[in-house]
Amino acid sequence: MNTKTDMIEWLDQNDTQFIELADAIWRTPEVAWHEFTSSKLQAVLLEEHGFRIRWDVGGISTAFVAEWGEGRPIIGVLGEYDALAGLSQKLQTEQEPLVEGAPGHGCGHNLLGTGGVATAVAVRRWLETSGTRGTIRYYGCPAEEQLSGKTFMAREGAFDDLDAALNFHPDKLNCPSKGSAVGVYDLVFRFRGRTAHAGGSPHLGRSALDAVELMNVGANYLREHVTEKVRIHYVITDGGRLPNVVPETADVWYFVRAHERSELDSVAERLKKVADGAALMTETTCTCTFRGACSNVLSNVVLADAQYANMEELGPIEFTSDELEYAARVNSAFPEEDARTMFTAMRVPAEWRDRVSGVCGRPLIGENFPAWDEEQISTGSTDVGDVSWITPLSMLRTACFATASPGHSWAIVATAGMSIGHKGMMHAAKTMAATAYDLYTKPDLLAAARAEHARATEGHPYSCPIPDEIPAPRVANPVRGVQ
Ligand SMILES: [Zn+2]
Repeated sequence: MNTKTDMIEWLDQNDTQFIELADAIWRTPEVAWHEFTSSKLQAVLLEEHGFRIRWDVGGISTAFVAEWGEGRPIIGVLGEYDALAGLSQKLQTEQEPLVEGAPGHGCGHNLLGTGGVATAVAVRRWLETSGTRGTIRYYGCPAEEQLSGKTFMAREGAFDDLDAALNFHPDKLNCPSKGSAVGVYDLVFRFRGRTAHAGGSPHLGRSALDAVELMNVGANYLREHVTEKVRIHYVITDGGRLPNVVPETADVWYFVRAHERSELDSVAERLKKVADGAALMTETTCTCTFRGACSNVLSNVVLADAQYANMEELGPIEFTSDELEYAARVNSAFPEEDARTMFTAMRVPAEWRDRVSGVCGRPLIGENFPAWDEEQISTGSTDVGDVSWITPLSMLRTACFATASPGHSWAIVATAGMSIGHKGMMHAAKTMAATAYDLYTKPDLLAAARAEHARATEGHPYSCPIPDEIPAPRVANPVRGVQ
């Protein structure tokens, strides 16, 4: 295995082990911080391929780094494996849970992580057989859905010595990204009041739930007076247990999103004032716990262009008529316009409109597109952002889902565990392996990516948004013993 083509062929001929790994993780969906089996399945396969494994990265028992090789360059591949609560779904085109109430891979992270594993293994095989000097690392990153796994790993310095990093996310088309995404603060507000019999002596009670409700009303008014990219959302995680008991405690869990750190700080401070106001009105007390955070994304044009060149060399994903029909049936559960509006929401530039109009409205899109999101800021978030401030990083999307599937939905689960998802995952693995090959063999390319990163971060080096005193969540690990 000496050339880029050899490495791509190796992935084509050896994809079964990666497809089986992605499916095993799909069948064992585990939510954020609890990815015990999923992380272990990946680490076992990497260990079989000769990687050195280091667990408990960032103080998280489901985070690991797998490394092979010696010296520089050191190229990192980021992977994830957490699922979403309540999204269990059978491999079929109608909504029906596999296990009622269980989690499901509604963001396709079973593919995301495994595509990265496949990339790392292929690169490691090529480094060895070609005698190329360099190190390949796979990062097993937990809890992306709670947006803090990589941030805790970054706080420990896990990405500091990388020369560059590659990452992909399953999506509805093949396209690298030159855009950004907003940062997040993860905050829990706990109110404490005084319990009482709600029928017999309500005048003695001071309801913590009232405080939560009033805080949420205040937050909904606050929403009007923030800038366009700010997002504020919440769920009530403790609202009492019985209507005839005045709740003594109540919790509300917030995500606050904004592009710049200074704006995140300012909106979080205003939200805390809203919470204090709710406590004052209800004669309760309030504590705010900062649980985690992630930074906005700094994309890298040099790496995005290198990824696109490699995708073009690979050609489009060929979906079969059965796969197109399956995806069309998934799409039929949603309004017909949804597949078309996906492209509108992506603000396709004029020069690409003709090409896009030829594919929009189709159930699956196997074609490759160049990044068209330069200067765009998505109001989604990812903890990949923290890595992107430390080392040049490329985000890639590949087609794994039916075009009308809503994000974080059963429709995503329905294609993430079958051939449509497998094809998108292997397309990403091949693109990332080919780009890694370029980074090891073309010093000028790596230098250009690093120079762009240096320019973008000049005067604002990475500073972790999670304060030192906030611990990473510790969860008893049934697979590797209690941590
Ligand atoms: Zn995701």
